[in-house]
Amino acid sequence: MCSRSSRLQGFYKKSLAERIALIADWAALTVEETELLAAGLSAEQADTMIENTIGRYALPLGIGANFLINGQEYLAPMAIEEPSVVAGVSAGARLARAGGGFRTGSTEPVMIAQIQLLDVPDAARAEKAIGSARSEILATADTSPTIKRLGGGPQDIEVRHLPDTAAGPMLIVHLLFDCRDAMGANAVNTAAETIAPLLERLTGGRAGARILSNLSDRRRAWAEVKIPADAFDSGEYLGAEVIHRIAEANAFALADPYRAATHNKGILNGIDAVLLSTGNDWRAVEAGAHAWAARDGQYRALTDWHVLAEAGEQRVRNSARNLRVPHDAPKVESLYGRLELPLSVGTVGGATRSHPLARVALKILGVSGARALSEVVAAVGLAQNLAALRALTTTGIQWGHMRLHARKHLSGF
Ligand code: NAD
Repeated sequence: MCSRSSRLQGFYKKSLAERIALIADWAALTVEETELLAAGLSAEQADTMIENTIGRYALPLGIGANFLINGQEYLAPMAIEEPSVVAGVSAGARLARAGGGFRTGSTEPVMIAQIQLLDVPDAARAEKAIGSARSEILATADTSPTIKRLGGGPQDIEVRHLPDTAAGPMLIVHLLFDCRDAMGANAVNTAAETIAPLLERLTGGRAGARILSNLSDRRRAWAEVKIPADAFDSGEYLGAEVIHRIAEANAFALADPYRAATHNKGILNGIDAVLLSTGNDWRAVEAGAHAWAARDGQYRALTDWHVLAEAGEQRVRNSARNLRVPHDAPKVESLYGRLELPLSVGTVGGATRSHPLARVALKILGVSGARALSEVVAAVGLAQNLAALRALTTTGIQWGHMRLHARKHLSGF
């Protein structure tokens, strides 16, 4: 991004005007873009975005600070109404810097379109016919010249059998479609609707639903961190003890859906806020994240946090009875964390272009395209989770929450 550091010390102590000036300088915002931070969406713009518009609904836009991702500095714009999320993510990102920041990655931006085929007379023959016509189907699905020019478009076809549904047997065709920098719902839905008549002819069946799947498990991003234990040292707690507690809290959320729901909600606090600020469809990502969290049949935490030992980096078993590091255990070196989830996001299309503040948010982020955005979003989710786990396993989550509530009420908001 740029050579400046995103480590914004004391940013929260600055006045609103000082913060705006700093961010305008960071992202080289124009005067008009800077003014948009206060003005937001106009009533006229709102009226073009949805139906039956009667007004605009504003949310605070904050800055998640301190992000170092693959050696690059990022500030994360976050639209959210909940106190302590922005403070938490900035604290999590600051901790991650002690381990060199986040490392992230992502798959190609491949979405899945589903075409439901009913009343198929012979499912096995139908699958064969689809396989033989693969090239014709992919050529027919090539409905977006822009995406094709950019190197995307239809990639492959897969067939799934649902032999026993409430509406009888079904054949489900998946069209895999590379959306490049678009979230891709419109492009993918168009392709699905375009190939449906061909699939009906090939299978002798009847096409029902033709729509993208929000379980975009071919389009994933991940972020990981490795943070030395002493970065967690505080007056009250030894860092080594804290990282064991964090690993235990994650184990709880991996094993128990009641805990996992809250654990993942915390991750999505950060993710949704960045998605909302950049005009992305956060409902789509939420749906995909929760479906992915339940992919083995049980709803689980989206993260892995475990303690790495100095020698050989083996996992150190945590004991629920004794939270302290045992004397005979290998010396604890660091906390490893990883978050991976489906992330269908765009830097073009939808509200990313029609909402003026989304364009400003994308400029503040400085990402090159949808994959880069998805990786920053994954890092934000991991930072958010780290801050939450640290708080709830040490001082408790209410301490920070109530401090920020108090600030809100004292300042008369
Ligand atoms: P879109 O149709 O507005 O824009 C995407 C188009 O932009 C592409 O088809 C392409 O023609 C063009 N484009 C220009 N530069 C591009 C680039 N670099 N890479 C890729 N395409 C480029 O938006 P979309 O992404 O197809 O759809 C997103 C919208 O669909 C969101 O607003 C979402 O809320 C909505 N939606 C979601 C669902 C769902 O999630 N289930 C269903 C329907 C609609």
